[in-house]
Amino acid sequence: MSRSVLISGASIAGPALAYWLSRYGFTVTVVEKASAVRGGGYPIDARGPAVEVLRRMGLLEAARERHVATRRITFLDAGGAQLAQIEPEELTGGVAGQDIELRRGDLTDLLYGAVRDEAEFRFGDSITTLDDHGDGVDVTFRSGLRRTFDLVIGADGLHSNTRTLVFGPEKQFHHYLGYCFAGFTAPNYLGLSHEAVTWTVAGRTATLYATDDSERMHGFLSFSREDAPLHAFADPAAQRDLVASYFTGDGWEVPRLVETMRSADDLFFDVVSQIRMPVWSKGRVVLAGDAAHATSFLSGQGSSLALIGAYLLAYELADAEHPAAFAAYDRRAREFMTRNQDLAPAGALMLSPRTEEELAARNAALRDPDGLPAETSREVHSNLTLPPERVVTG
Ligand SMILES: Cc1cc2nc3c(=O)[nH]c(=O)nc-3n(C[C@H](O)[C@H](O)[C@H](O)COP(=O)(O)OP(=O)(O)OC[C@H]3O[C@@H](n4cnc5c(N)ncnc54)[C@H](O)[C@@H]3O)c2cc1C
Repeated sequence: MSRSVLISGASIAGPALAYWLSRYGFTVTVVEKASAVRGGGYPIDARGPAVEVLRRMGLLEAARERHVATRRITFLDAGGAQLAQIEPEELTGGVAGQDIELRRGDLTDLLYGAVRDEAEFRFGDSITTLDDHGDGVDVTFRSGLRRTFDLVIGADGLHSNTRTLVFGPEKQFHHYLGYCFAGFTAPNYLGLSHEAVTWTVAGRTATLYATDDSERMHGFLSFSREDAPLHAFADPAAQRDLVASYFTGDGWEVPRLVETMRSADDLFFDVVSQIRMPVWSKGRVVLAGDAAHATSFLSGQGSSLALIGAYLLAYELADAEHPAAFAAYDRRAREFMTRNQDLAPAGALMLSPRTEEELAARNAALRDPDGLPAETSREVHSNLTLPPERVVTG
């Protein structure tokens, strides 16, 4: 019996789910509020089982061709003097030659390309109401469309609309990690190539990241702050002012980077937060990817978890009705997701130390490679065995 499923969100978890569920005989619709699959070039990673998911989707070679091959990360002190230079894997726990680092937009393009002809994509729309009446879910869309689906999956990110509609306000599940960040495109005025340079003082970090040797690179400004500045979310000008206010009087390239942030046309500002939920499903609705278990960029694992979770959820749905499938998915995935989320504090200490004491400890760790968290991270990244693909009949 073919089941219909609506997926909200066409980034990483959404198209990956669409691919696997289409393959397992579901009729899939994906709704994405943006007018197309979103670009956005910041680098993300596929590690451990996520690389295997890409292989099983037939995307491994294409993903490898887009690998950005970051050579090194250079750490600078307040005045811009070099503290250390390390290979990224020494910090992240990645495995050189196996893991893939690619621009987020390249990954979403590949995933969308793998499923665009198998699923219906509704861009520029989103869910406004969901009524799960036991036999199906009646959905109304912002466009005015009304449809009924057997299942609905929220793959719509950290601030998931589906989660709010079904589970209630985000604040119940939102764990603010004490940082805010701004990401934007900047001219590559230092001539960087396949490398990141990161400047840190207690509570503030400025990073330049060149994924290639082109004239553009990524700029990131992050700062620690006790409370989440919710007032800034509705107002882009307030976001720029807020970020700039944390970086007044700083050295190195920071003033130039702040100026670039002020005029950037692709500024992305957000809190650094996780989503932690005791259950990921309710009735016929389930959450996936960041919507269910956002881990933050401090763990470097969000994209891998989105790919792995999509594979596992589709695997369970292929063989069981939704109550049993959702329960089996939870049993199989939860510990892995939680352990990966638990990597974020160590990442924060390395990338964004908050106090002078944390900064000194971080700098000491940089001088002693055994002090870096890579080994622990590596074990956590790969500590899950994917079940084999379901055999598709008929
Ligand atoms: C600056 C930065 C750096 C990062 N670095 C890394 C890294 O190094 N490694 C790593 O693995 N991960 C990294 N991540 C995390 C990674 O980007 C996410 O974990 C990953 O994108 C999660 O994928 P997702 O599909 O679950 O959600 P998202 O990528 O957040 O996608 C959600 C989708 O839902 C859509 N949407 C939202 N609301 C609605 C709605 N109402 N209706 C319809 N559609 C909607 C959005 O437009 C979007 O397309 C980083 C994230 C950021 C922001």
